[in-house]
Amino acid sequence: MTAPIERFDQLDLQAPILAALAEIGYETPSPIQAACIPHLLAGHDILGEAQTGTGKTAAFALPALDRVDISKRNPQVLVLAPTRELAIQVSEAFQRYASKMPGFHVLPIYGGQSMVVQLRQLQRGAHVVVGTPGRVMDHIERKSLNLDGLSTLVLDEADEMLRMGFIDDVEWILQHLPAERQTALFSATMPDAIRRVAHRYLRDPKEVKIKAATATVSTIRQRFLQIAGAHKLDALTRILEVEDDFDAAIVFVRTKTATVELAEKLEARGYAAACLNGDMTQQLRERVIEQLKNKTLDIVVATDVAARGIDVPRVSHVINFDIPYDTEAYVHRIGRTGRAGRAGNAILFVAPRETHLLRQIERATRQPIELLKLPSREAVADKRVAAFRQQVAEVLESEDLSFFVDVIAGMEAQHDTEIHEIAAALAFLAQKDRPLQMPETGRPDIAQLAGGKPDARTPRDTRETRQAREPRENRGEILERRRDYAEGRLARYRIDVGREHMASPKDIVGAIANEAGIESRFIGQINLFEDYSTVELPSDLSNDTIQILRRARVRQQPLNLRLASPEEAARERGRSGPGGRGAPPKKPFRKEGGFDRPGGDFKSRKPKP
Ligand code: ADP
Ligand code: MG
Repeated sequence: MTAPIERFDQLDLQAPILAALAEIGYETPSPIQAACIPHLLAGHDILGEAQTGTGKTAAFALPALDRVDISKRNPQVLVLAPTRELAIQVSEAFQRYASKMPGFHVLPIYGGQSMVVQLRQLQRGAHVVVGTPGRVMDHIERKSLNLDGLSTLVLDEADEMLRMGFIDDVEWILQHLPAERQTALFSATMPDAIRRVAHRYLRDPKEVKIKAATATVSTIRQRFLQIAGAHKLDALTRILEVEDDFDAAIVFVRTKTATVELAEKLEARGYAAACLNGDMTQQLRERVIEQLKNKTLDIVVATDVAARGIDVPRVSHVINFDIPYDTEAYVHRIGRTGRAGRAGNAILFVAPRETHLLRQIERATRQPIELLKLPSREAVADKRVAAFRQQVAEVLESEDLSFFVDVIAGMEAQHDTEIHEIAAALAFLAQKDRPLQMPETGRPDIAQLAGGKPDARTPRDTRETRQAREPRENRGEILERRRDYAEGRLARYRIDVGREHMASPKDIVGAIANEAGIESRFIGQINLFEDYSTVELPSDLSNDTIQILRRARVRQQPLNLRLASPEEAARERGRSGPGGRGAPPKKPFRKEGGFDRPGGDFKSRKPKP
């Protein structure tokens, strides 16, 4: 290979696949993808070794899709995965990557699912079958799975299949497949037993191992925070507020869409933030960096590629909002801080299932990453009060206040009020837009949710959240929601889960919050009907989010989320109050939401006062 592969369109993939990737927002192939896809497209067998979370699914799914002949309805690709969950995940990934290939069918088959249903589905035909070894064996024996036309076999998470005792089943399946085929084996580790299988059944495979780079980054203080996706934004803003040496930050996320979304959310919270991604022209990117240098911006939300090589000495913090694919990316990222001899801070957000990546980074950099304690609400309030005092002290010191002294003296005389009460009223006015106290939400503080022990699961708080929320349903909240609705910020969506499925609002909020990472405060009213429900959500949900919510399940029932029809929404308004004025929004209110917009969404903003 000559030049390194930085974009998917440098890979020889069909246009519909590239279009789907653009829509999903993947910007650059991960290392395992860049290394494997060309070999697989060229027809070679692959023996791939890379940790979980490095993008192995797309590494085999994209080239496999590229070779699928949609006009034939027999399975051409078989993926073996160790568990039911993984089989479903991989099927969903195929479905997403094939979203622009009409007529494409992928079928997950696993134990525990009704045989009758599976047989019917198999009869209908599928281009790709993803199954657990036991169930695939069953179907081969019953001759309900005809693999004569198979061209590609993938063994996903081979070490896990070995560990779970499936290796004999896997070998049996391998012996029952057409000899003329491509085989790809992926594994996080390469124990001897797997290597043996590979030597026996793979033909002259290309071996790809994504190694962890080593590096020293000693002037940078590295910390991690164990946090679930839904709380990342709150955690980020809290960190930004309380870090003593904060000056500017680069926040890393995985996708272009995420750069736009997160930059917008930070702006909405008063930060001078902008996104930086590969969709933006060179000129725009340079402008963002210039603005970061000249303090017009304090935060840049970037993807790995877009931020490569940035050298802005005032960057005091690098936040790994989404964990990087590998140690090398991590080292590149954190190298954006601690420049020109200054001290730097690197903070890594680790979701519960990503703990192994944290350990891998520690091993490779040979440096422990310390646990970050998220400050409590009270600590944040203390910090704000201290800053406020400081401001007041400075004004007392430096400004000529004689005019104001007269005004206050007049008030004191007229109202017969103590001077410190007047001062308190003024303090109240001064902090109104950025309150000194953190609002009491009735929810558990994220400082408690952000677990210390990386092996402990972060508690799922959504259930408690809803319980705490419901009694607060007061007039103010209803009015506010009505306004949001009229202005098109909220829209009513319909989901195919209702009372007959035994669903409760808590279940629905839980699923939406967990699956799509929508904070529960953005989830409005939920109305349950017999066989469906409606729920208020932001009207500018990205396509990605809508796709996720179509497939998310409550009580085993896919939500199949879509915008409610005007009739459905009208019925709701009659019934429940909010949205009484005006028609429901037909179009998203904030067109510039930028989720689908090419060219990125470039923002500049005056620094916060
Ligand atoms: P693995 O199989 O190695 O554990 P996955 O294939 O499950 O990893 O991918 C992990 C996550 O990374 C998924 O959420 C996936 O959507 C995302 N991802 C994969 N490839 C890319 C890419 N090129 N750019 C951005 N995100 C990606
Ligand atoms: Mg995987």
